Amino acid sequence: MKIIMLGAPGAGKGTQAIKIAEKYGIPHISTGDIFRANIKNGTELGKKAKEFMDKGALVPDELTCDLVVDRIHQDDCKNGFVLDGFPRTIPQAKALDTALDKDGESIDHAIDIEVPDQNIVKRMGGRRACLNCGATYHIISAPPKTEGICDNCGGKLTIREDDKPQTVQERLSVYHQKTQPLIDYYKKAGILDQVDGTQPLDQVFSMIEEVLD
Ligand code: ADP
Ligand code: ADP
Ligand code: ZN
Repeated sequence: MKIIMLGAPGAGKGTQAIKIAEKYGIPHISTGDIFRANIKNGTELGKKAKEFMDKGALVPDELTCDLVVDRIHQDDCKNGFVLDGFPRTIPQAKALDTALDKDGESIDHAIDIEVPDQNIVKRMGGRRACLNCGATYHIISAPPKTEGICDNCGGKLTIREDDKPQTVQERLSVYHQKTQPLIDYYKKAGILDQVDGTQPLDQVFSMIEEVLD
């Protein structure tokens, strides 16, 4: 099963993608996580990506598309994948379609998690992330067992550099301008499913299971 997650920053894409990956036994591929790992390891890609990410801008398509196309051709993607945070622009969506088309394949489901902007701003203030394993928590709606420590790996939880209120506003405006048009793109392709992301996270997951089963 080949799935992509759509939705504003903070809509819950990562949270749900991890649950989908677990249930359906497919890899969770987050471009944000890949960029953050590159930044942490001080790679050339990481240095370039950081400039854009810190401002709340998108990393250019040239730095993003090939990376994802390579990743989905790895062995563990044979039975599918769940893409989280890619595509984020129409050119990225087209690059993905072209790459899959070459192998006679296509995306099965585009799941759009809908959350209004006002809710997003509130949510982001409480997000805590583990830079070690990519797990995400929320101080109120999804707290870790021990404050400040990742349940998965024991890593230290941090506030993401780009989760400051001002950067969140910028990311939302970039989302509306560049990413929201993808909703129409996948609607036209007949593979779009929209779920109400303001519901508690287990309920959001139930709605996604209904779509996928
Ligand atoms: P969120 O979970 O809040 O949606 P991500 O972790 O997916 O954020 O992405 C963080 C940042 O990484 C983005 O704001 C952007 O700068 C960069 N990024 C991630 N995926 C992409 C992409 N597909 N295209 C361009 N930039 C991306
Ligand atoms: P995205 O990957 O779309 O940026 P995340 O999965 O990182 O979003 O979620 C953003 C924040 O909101 C996190 O702190 C997460 O724990 C929290 N969160 C996710 N889904 C819900 C939900 N349904 N209700 C309340 N909080 C949520
Ligand atoms: Zn962790």
